[in-house]
Amino acid sequence: GFVEFNKFFTQIIDRFEMSKSQNVEFIRLLPEKSYFVDIDTDKLTQVIDNIISNALKYSPDGGNIRFGFTVHGNMLRVMISDDGMGIPKENVTKIFDRFYRVDRARARSMGGTGLGLAIAREMIEAHGGKIWAESEEGQGTTIFFTLPYELDEAEDWE
Ligand code: ATP
Ligand code: MG
Repeated sequence: GFVEFNKFFTQIIDRFEMSKSQNVEFIRLLPEKSYFVDIDTDKLTQVIDNIISNALKYSPDGGNIRFGFTVHGNMLRVMISDDGMGIPKENVTKIFDRFYRVDRARARSMGGTGLGLAIAREMIEAHGGKIWAESEEGQGTTIFFTLPYELDEAEDWE
């Protein structure tokens, strides 16, 4: 169904901000205007939960996580960015493959199955969007995804 994206995103960010145990600051860069997205809210929640848990997992003590979205044509471009350890250039597309983890040592110490971003890619593509990462080793990682939007909540004529 149609949901207002800022409100939907903010609820997820709030839930993580209230329950996090790390000393990591959340910074929100969210437009006020209403953009409606036609999404499966459970699935999109799962996608965003995974991206935020990854960002928290790899954030240093005292780090920041930035949440934002911008508008490009008929698509929203959402970004979640951390200043963690980053991902080597040659692996930045592989993290969306099933069971892929950047290195064994990291995988052992951090837990998880390596499925989170593979599922995220399937779900974002099923919604007509794309997902990708930009990362600089030792500097941080930004995950981007896009979703088509409408300016008005669509009428349901059923
Ligand atoms: P799961 O999500 O199934 O619990 P996971 O977090 O290891 O396990 P993905 O979410 O698919 O799996 O992420 C795949 C890999 O990409 C991670 O193991 C990690 O190596 C790397 N990765 C993902 N997000 C980040 C990030 N924000 N910073 C650094 N590395 C990341
Ligand atoms: Mg994960």
